[in-house]
Amino acid sequence: MEEFRDPFVLPPSVDREKFHEFISRAAQVVGIMNIMVISDPSQFSKQDYMDSSKSHDMFHVLEKEEFLSSAVVMPRQVPDVQDMMRLANEFEIPVWPFSTGRNIGYGGAAPRVRGSVALDLGRHMNRILEVNTDAAYALVEPGVSYFDLHDYLVKNNLRKDVWMDVPDLGGGSLIGNTLERGIGYTPYGDHWMMHCGLEVVLPDGSLIRTGMGALPNPQADKNKSPHEQEWNKSWQLFNYGFGPYNDGIFSQSSLGVVVKMGVSLMMNPGGFQSYLITFPRNEDLHKIVEIMRPLRISLVIQNAPKLESILVAAALAGPRTKYTSSEKLLDDQELDNIAEQLNLGRWNLYGALYGPQVVRDSLWSVIKSSFGNIPGAKFFFLEDRPDDLAMQTRNTTFQGIPTISELEWVNWLPNGSHLFFSPIAPVTGDEAQAQYQLTRQLVQEHGFDFIGSFLVGLREMHHIVCIVFDRKDDESRRRAYTLIKTLIAAAAARGWGEYRAHLALMDEIAGTYSFNDNAQMKLNEKLKNALDPKGILAPGKNGVWPANYKKEEWVM
Ligand code: ADP
Repeated sequence: MEEFRDPFVLPPSVDREKFHEFISRAAQVVGIMNIMVISDPSQFSKQDYMDSSKSHDMFHVLEKEEFLSSAVVMPRQVPDVQDMMRLANEFEIPVWPFSTGRNIGYGGAAPRVRGSVALDLGRHMNRILEVNTDAAYALVEPGVSYFDLHDYLVKNNLRKDVWMDVPDLGGGSLIGNTLERGIGYTPYGDHWMMHCGLEVVLPDGSLIRTGMGALPNPQADKNKSPHEQEWNKSWQLFNYGFGPYNDGIFSQSSLGVVVKMGVSLMMNPGGFQSYLITFPRNEDLHKIVEIMRPLRISLVIQNAPKLESILVAAALAGPRTKYTSSEKLLDDQELDNIAEQLNLGRWNLYGALYGPQVVRDSLWSVIKSSFGNIPGAKFFFLEDRPDDLAMQTRNTTFQGIPTISELEWVNWLPNGSHLFFSPIAPVTGDEAQAQYQLTRQLVQEHGFDFIGSFLVGLREMHHIVCIVFDRKDDESRRRAYTLIKTLIAAAAARGWGEYRAHLALMDEIAGTYSFNDNAQMKLNEKLKNALDPKGILAPGKNGVWPANYKKEEWVM
């Protein structure tokens, strides 16, 4: 009798005998306890962010079984990952690595290719290897979540020295979020920019360290296996090392499994003050963005602020039914009423000041007088809004303290799930206005209320349009899917591209980055085929299909 049950779905072109042989060999690598074959729908029924699924997309926009793994393998240490790569090559079975699998809105832990074997790196490989408070950095393994690192800083009384940056939801991992080029809101909000040094298992099972990590530490014990050898002291201090800079090819990619990553931390700034500026009219958007650009580029606005349309805070404060009993979309008058009811504006800008009082006061006086030029702008600190969940959440996130309160807005609709449509825009009033008009119009034409924010990186904005749908309502899911496809095409026609994508949309978005006859995709495919000739690692990730997959049969 086989030790494992048959999977609910097999990997492509793999029969059950081959699958079982693979799984028993994998059990020899990681131990039988660290394999979970997904054989029954009860194993892909989880729906809770903090106890999230390791095999399917909890916020599926297509059928739940479309993106589903056949088994989850939990490596205990780096050599297990290396052995799993070799095994996957031997059996030509696709593997899909993830760190904590809480990439919700983009597919969670689910693989692009149905039946792939998931590599749950975070289950065991979750050590904080170093926190250096003098040079302000940390070195972490895949399972370290934002909550974990924060707890570590608190327990060891290190927040007096260093702060971290966190994204909206703190349950994800530093490595997963950074590789996906996720963002947060402190001055260190660009996570990819703020990583320094990777240790990566390549698809053939070999192990590299990038940047200064490639230069051996003379004190390292050469008798130890490479992953255990003491690292170069500058690994987390200088990103580039010597020669071609490799790190980029490992983000949003299928070219390696990242098993260690350095992350830059902020020095404790010596003082913090979050703020909210509300703007009463929808038409204020243009002016707000024009004022914001020079303030942000010159770092008067020190963090990556968040400019939200009214329904983000409204959805955080309660479901749709709290505001209307009608099924009809909310019109401008109703949105004005909601804004008034919540003592907010149609646009609301959340930001923060960092530094001692004297620094904060001078920055605030410039910010206040600049935005004060917009009639009706109102200025708030946390103490002015003791019952405001949105303000409290931002006050926490903006000082690098993780939360999960931000997830509340998905409950706007019953069985609320979300997809993110996230195009990049220049920080100009014209572009913001044009992007807002186009996206709001299409969102409404597909029967959804517009919920969106502009997050200002430095010279660009990530426009995050949240499509909240009812995952138990087929019609709602279908509309959401049609909408996002329409948005992608309409945005590309205006020169706007998305920075990140759900599994179901990776091909579509990759297809819009088509300059010079898809020259960049051709390069990505060359790299893929050179580093992973059997196409075993995350095939289809971000639209890159290895040569052994007939692309035209796989693209969606
Ligand atoms: P989060 O940290 O938000 O929970 P995930 O763990 O779900 O994010 O990772 C998001 C995506 O990033 C995965 O689907 C995978 O494509 C990629 N990824 C995550 N961790 C790794 C890793 N350690 N090595 C390679 N790719 C990874």
